[in-house]
Amino acid sequence: MVNITATLSTLITANHILHHLNVLDSMGHISVRNPANNSTFFIALQLGPAVVSGPGDIGEYLVEDASPVNGTEGGYAERYIHSEILKRYPDVVSVVHSHSEDVLPYTVVGSSVGVQPVYHMAGFLGDNVPNFDIETAYNDSSPRDMLVNSIQLGAALAATLGVNQSQPSSPLHPTVLQRGHGFVTTGESVEQAVDYAYYATSNARVQTNALLLTGAVGGGVQYLSEQERRDCRNMNAWIAFKPWKQWVWEVERSGMYVNELGTPPDA
Ligand SMILES: [Zn+2]
Repeated sequence: MVNITATLSTLITANHILHHLNVLDSMGHISVRNPANNSTFFIALQLGPAVVSGPGDIGEYLVEDASPVNGTEGGYAERYIHSEILKRYPDVVSVVHSHSEDVLPYTVVGSSVGVQPVYHMAGFLGDNVPNFDIETAYNDSSPRDMLVNSIQLGAALAATLGVNQSQPSSPLHPTVLQRGHGFVTTGESVEQAVDYAYYATSNARVQTNALLLTGAVGGGVQYLSEQERRDCRNMNAWIAFKPWKQWVWEVERSGMYVNELGTPPDA
C-alpha cells in the first residue's frame, strides 16, 4: 500500500531544504506526483516554502488541467508549470520552479552566454539549457505579467524541455530557463529534483565567477566536454540520495522549520 504520509512529509521537508539552500525565497514551489494515483499531484498552497508545515498546507490537483480535487481550494497561480510538465512527461515525478538570482542573469543576456555545466555535479544540465521566452506563447489578450498561469502557457513551457528520443516519456532537458523569471527543473524523485535545483543554482554561481575571472585576466572558461556531461549526468542521477540526507539533517536542526509529519522515511 502506498504511504501518502511519507510522500507529503518528503514534500514538506523539500520545501524547507529549497528555502534553506536559497534556491527558493518566499516565492517558487516544488510538486510531487501522487504515488497512489498518477493523474493528480501535490504542491503547497499559497504559502512561502519556509512556512509549509503540515498536510493542511498542501493541495492536490489534477495533472490534466491543474484543477483542485479532494477538498483543495485555491493555490499557486503558476501550478500549470507543474501540471503540464507532469502531463507531457510520465517519467517526471517532481518539478521545482525557482526565481534564483544566481540563475536569472543567464535568462536575460541573450544566446551568446548560455548556462553550461562547469563542474561534475551539474552534468545533468546537458548540452544546453533552453531559455523559454513567454512572449512567444502569449495570446494577444494575455496580460504580460510573466506568470505561467494557464494550460496554454504551461504547455508551451513544457514543450521547451523537448522529448528524449530514446525514452520519450522523459524530457530531453531536465532544466529550462525562463526569460526574466527564473528556471524550472525536473526529477524522477523529489530528492533528485531538489538536488538538480540546488546544483543548477550552484553551477550558475561558479560559471558567473569563472566568466568574470576570464573577463579580468583573459582566457576562456573550460566547460565539461560532451562525454563528461553524459557520464556526469548518469552519476548525478543516482547520487542525489547523499546530499538529501544531509540537507534533511540540516533543516531539522536549524530550528527554523516545522514538519508536522516528521522526518521523511528515506532520510
Ligand atoms: Zn514564478
